[in-house]
Amino acid sequence: MTLCLQGTRITSGVAIGPVHIIKQHDFEVTEYSIHKNFLQEEVSRYKKAHNNAKNHLDSVLNNIPQSTPSEITAFIHSHLLMLDDEMLSDAPVEIILKQQCNAEWALKIQRDSIVSIFDAMEDDYLRTRRDDVDHVVKTIMQNLLSGAVHHGVHHSQEQRFSGHVIVADDISPSELVLMQHQGIAAFVTQTGGPTSHTAIIARSLNIPAIAGIHNIYTLLHETETIIVDGRFGLVLTNIDDEALHHYHRLRREQQIQLKRYKEFPHLPAITDDGIEINISANIELAEEIPLMHEMGANGIGLYRTEYLFMNRSTTPSEEEQFLAYANVLMQLKDKPLTIRTLDLGSDKQVDSGKQPSHTITNPAMGLRAIRLCLNDLSLFIPQLRAILRVSALGSVKMMIPMLSNINELQQVLRLIQTTQSTLQKESIKFDPDMHIGGMIEVPAAAICAEMFAAELDFLSIGTNDLIQYTLAIDRTDDEVNYLYDPLHPAVLKLIAQTIAAGQQAGIPVTMCGEMAGDPRYTKLLLGLGLQEFSMHPNSHPPIKKIIPLCNTRKLRRQVKRLLKSNNHTEFINQIEKLLC
Ligand code: PEP
Ligand code: MG
Repeated sequence: MTLCLQGTRITSGVAIGPVHIIKQHDFEVTEYSIHKNFLQEEVSRYKKAHNNAKNHLDSVLNNIPQSTPSEITAFIHSHLLMLDDEMLSDAPVEIILKQQCNAEWALKIQRDSIVSIFDAMEDDYLRTRRDDVDHVVKTIMQNLLSGAVHHGVHHSQEQRFSGHVIVADDISPSELVLMQHQGIAAFVTQTGGPTSHTAIIARSLNIPAIAGIHNIYTLLHETETIIVDGRFGLVLTNIDDEALHHYHRLRREQQIQLKRYKEFPHLPAITDDGIEINISANIELAEEIPLMHEMGANGIGLYRTEYLFMNRSTTPSEEEQFLAYANVLMQLKDKPLTIRTLDLGSDKQVDSGKQPSHTITNPAMGLRAIRLCLNDLSLFIPQLRAILRVSALGSVKMMIPMLSNINELQQVLRLIQTTQSTLQKESIKFDPDMHIGGMIEVPAAAICAEMFAAELDFLSIGTNDLIQYTLAIDRTDDEVNYLYDPLHPAVLKLIAQTIAAGQQAGIPVTMCGEMAGDPRYTKLLLGLGLQEFSMHPNSHPPIKKIIPLCNTRKLRRQVKRLLKSNNHTEFINQIEKLLC
C-alpha cells in the first residue's frame, strides 16, 4: 500500500524517480582539477590537514582523564596508528599528483578503496573496522574542508544524479545549482524551510522539493522509486500502480500548464481603477533570462550576484564580473537591470574562503551581505567597479542588501563616490546618475525607512529576511518554520511604514521577497500601496491574472482599517477579506 510522508512544501511541482541518498559528511565532496603549478600547494594542504588531525588525536590522548577505561585509550591509539599508516599519509598525496585533483577528492578515493577491502572480508569483526576508517578519514576531511582554499575549476561531474530524487539532511544553494546541471528530478531534505535560499533556487529552477521530513534515512531507501508531491509537501513511497498512473498524468498536466503560462499574453498589469503595476523578475543565473522574457517581465528587479561566486575556488575578478553583468544586460533588450551587491554569508556560502573562517553562532546575524563587503574591500571594490562600468552600457541600478544603519549606508555611498572618481581618472566610462537603492530587510531599517529614503533613489522590501528578523525565526530552521508568518501585524506595519516613507520621499518602493510572488497576498500588498513587484518569472502569470480584478482605492481603505485594529479577532476577520 502506498505510504505518505508529510513535510513542508518548497515548490509545487510533482516528480517521480529513484532515491539517491546523500548523508552529511558522507564524503560527498566535489572534484576539482588542479593546475600543475598548484599541485605542490595542494599536497601541502593535505599534509597540513593530516597533521592537524594527528595533533587533535594526540591532544585528546594527552588530556584524557585517568579514570578513562583502557579500551577507549586503545581505541584512540588505533586511530593514531591508522593515521600514520601510509594508506592515509602517502597514498592520497600520490593520488593528488597523479590525477591532478583536489585533496578532498584524493582522500575520498583512497577511503573508498580501503573500505572496499574491509567490505570484502569474511570476518565480521574486521568488517566493522571500516567504521574506524571512516572516523579517521572524517577527522582529516573536516580539517581540509574548514580551511579549504583550492586553485582550480570544476571538474565536469558524471551524470550520477540524473533523474534521481536527492534525499539529504540539507542541501546548500551552491550544491543545488550543481545538482540541477546534473539533471536531478527533485529533492527531499530533513531540514530547511520555504524561504531558505535553497528553496528560492529550487523555485527558480523549477525543481520539485520538500523539506522537513524527519528520520528521512530510515524512511527512504537508496534506488526505491518515490513520488514527490510539492503541492501538498508529500512524499509517497511503496507506490502502487494506481498512484503511479495518477501522478504520471498529473506531471503531464503540469507540463501543459507551464507551456500555457509561457504563452500568457504580455499585457501590462493594470488594476480595475487604472493603476499600472510594474512586475519585474528575480533571477540568480543568466540562464533564467529567456523565461523572464517569455513571462513578459518589465526587467530584472533583483539579480542575486552571489551565485557568480559559488561552486568555484576563487572569487571572480572585476573583469569577469563586468562581462557577466554585461551579458545579462545585453540579453534584457533595453529593459532595466537591478544588480544587488553581494549577499554572501548565512546560508549562502562559497568555497573561496571569503567568509569568516571561524564558526559563527548566529550566521544570519553575523558578517553577512553588506557587512561582509564593508569588512573586505578586496571583495567589494571590484564588484562596485564592475557594476559602475556596466552602467555605461544601459539601464542599470545598484541595490545594497541588509542595511541596518545609516552610517553603514553613508560608508557605502562614499565608497561608490571614490570608485567613480578612480574610474574617471582612468578614463573608464560609467553612468554618474545610476540609481542606488537599498534593501529594507532588517526591522531597524524599516522603522527608520524615511532616513534611508532620504539618501537613496529607491527602496526594495526583502520580506524573506524582514520576516525572519522581525519574528526572530531562522528562515532555514524547519523546527520554527510554523512561526514564519507574512501576515503577522508587525510585518504588515513595517511594510506599510516602508511604502509610506518611499511615497513621502517621492522614490519608488518595490518588493522582491517571496511574499511579492505569492498570489494569496496580491490584494493585500496592493492595499498597502505597493505598485512595484519583483518575483521569479514563474510567478508572473497568476499575479497578473489577479491585478485587473483589484480596485486599489477600495483595498487601501480596507488595509487602513486592518492596520488600525488592535483586537486579534478583528484583525483576522479583516485580513481574511484581503486574501486571494
Ligand atoms: C529577501 O530577504 O526578501 C530577499 C529578497 O533577499 P534574499 O532572499 O536573497 O535574502
Ligand atoms: Mg534578503
